[in-house]
Amino acid sequence: MQKWIDYARSLVSSLQILRGRRPLSRGEYDGDYYVDYTYDDTYDEIYDGGWFDEIVVTPDPIWDGVGADGLTNDEWMSSTTPDSTVDPSPEDGTSNETDDVVSPDNTEVNQSPHNYNEAGLSDVLRAVSPILQAKGIDVSQYKIRLNEEMCWSNARTLPDNTIEVCQEFFKYSSNDQASIIWHEIYHVNHEHNKEMTSSGGHISLSMPPDEICLSFKTYLNWYYKDISDEKARDDFIDSHLKGDLDVTDIRSSQWYHNEVETYQAEKNNGIEKSDYYEGMVDFLLWKYGELEKLTD
Ligand SMILES: [Zn+2]
Repeated sequence: MQKWIDYARSLVSSLQILRGRRPLSRGEYDGDYYVDYTYDDTYDEIYDGGWFDEIVVTPDPIWDGVGADGLTNDEWMSSTTPDSTVDPSPEDGTSNETDDVVSPDNTEVNQSPHNYNEAGLSDVLRAVSPILQAKGIDVSQYKIRLNEEMCWSNARTLPDNTIEVCQEFFKYSSNDQASIIWHEIYHVNHEHNKEMTSSGGHISLSMPPDEICLSFKTYLNWYYKDISDEKARDDFIDSHLKGDLDVTDIRSSQWYHNEVETYQAEKNNGIEKSDYYEGMVDFLLWKYGELEKLTD
């Protein structure tokens, strides 16, 4: 712990604020600030307001020595980092707490422990390959790689038949991941990826039917599960839903038709999916069905 305190102190001491200026956030008055801390009608301090670019931060050279415990920073980090997943619902301290650390294989949610990198992707492909093999698909026949740009979906297929998986993909369980790849392979096999046109534009969809809303909220509750404040979580869920109904970047009717066909096939592909992933599929089936009609 001492090491971190020392490190934090060194960071603080290396902050040099020039000319006694106070950093302002955008929109604040950029002039003198008169402050009366003691409410006696005399100014205790006068700040000269300034912007962030007027502050010079001079970091200390990186410390690479050995601490009193005989460890370097890196050694200390690796010796104190838990090597398995930390229990998401720890006991209150009255019971035996040996299961505060759970191994990734028996976490209830079967969350994919894999990282968004090449090694993580090979691990995922090794895990989904037997699931897809059982459905008659040889994953090694397809080119699957990490997406290098920003993408908000789970995966996508490029016109040259390359399948790209996005960051979101790594949040799912192996069965869901297998189904996501199944979906992309369906697009490749049916040459759907030749239909990439997007015309811009803007469509506001009305609220989906109750059962679709309910299904989608299963997904959104899972997606925002780390937000512990219920009110804040509900706000995120509401604005996420509203954002999804506000469609910009309109595709062709054929593109939506292909998605509807593929999601319908995916629903019946025999791979057992999580209820939250199914919730998302149900919502997208409804959404793309609506957009197919509206763009026809
Ligand atoms: Zn698709």
